[in-house]
Amino acid sequence: MRSIVIKLHSRPQVLILSGLDPSGGAGIQADIQAITALDCHPLPVITCLTVQDTRNVHNAVPVDAGVIREQLECLAADTPIHAIKTGALGSAEVIDELLAFADAHPDIPLITDPVIKAAGGGDLADQALIERMKSGLFRRAEMITPNGIELAMLGGSDNSDEAARRLLASGCQSVLATGGHGTGTDIINTLYRDGVPPKQWAIVRIGGEYHGTGCTLAAAIAAGRAAGLAPEAAIEQAQRFVDAAIRQALAVGQGQPVPDRHVILP
Ligand code: PLP
Repeated sequence: MRSIVIKLHSRPQVLILSGLDPSGGAGIQADIQAITALDCHPLPVITCLTVQDTRNVHNAVPVDAGVIREQLECLAADTPIHAIKTGALGSAEVIDELLAFADAHPDIPLITDPVIKAAGGGDLADQALIERMKSGLFRRAEMITPNGIELAMLGGSDNSDEAARRLLASGCQSVLATGGHGTGTDIINTLYRDGVPPKQWAIVRIGGEYHGTGCTLAAAIAAGRAAGLAPEAAIEQAQRFVDAAIRQALAVGQGQPVPDRHVILP
């Protein structure tokens, strides 16, 4: 039998650690779709299973941290990884495994969406997980991408500048404070880094809340970094991608619409 000769190609590869949202709006599906749409290949590791619809998270069960360690070791022995994106992490023990892995691969950029709660209020992190993000993961992450609520909780202040300053002082390399949950005519995203003035982007607010926007943004930033973009260029590309995905949002259930990540970047 004759076989057909094909020419193999490869794409930048993004390791994802995040939770499964069966509504397909947030979590690992959002990450996979955004990363694929931006021409990268996702390497997905599920950290927790959620019971969830487009309105809220009703339960979240962490995946065994030992299994995640095996998955990371198995992948790393086989395949190049050009960036890591984290979302909901399931448990403090999963963070320990991720950190051991990321510290052994210090050159891989790590983008962390510090997921704590679903938009509907359901919990996606317990106190031990939040503490381990702050004391361990944040120093290794190249960028964390909190929304306004996460920034206030993690930085211990309702003043965004102050909260971000405290996070930098405690070891974060950079903080992209996202303004999607605000109310102004523009969404203001602000990048805080040590020793440089904050950089702001204003994006026209379309209005409404969309399930999985934070996941999509952070995943798109990781895809840009995997493809070799500098952090600011990766943010700019990711913002354009999220804006385009929201402009053609999908009606999935009775709760928030879902950004359509099956979109061509304008
Ligand atoms: N990750 C998982 C598994 C989730 O279920 C959710 C929200 O429900 C999130 C992350 C955060 O979603 P968002 O991008 O809307 O902040």
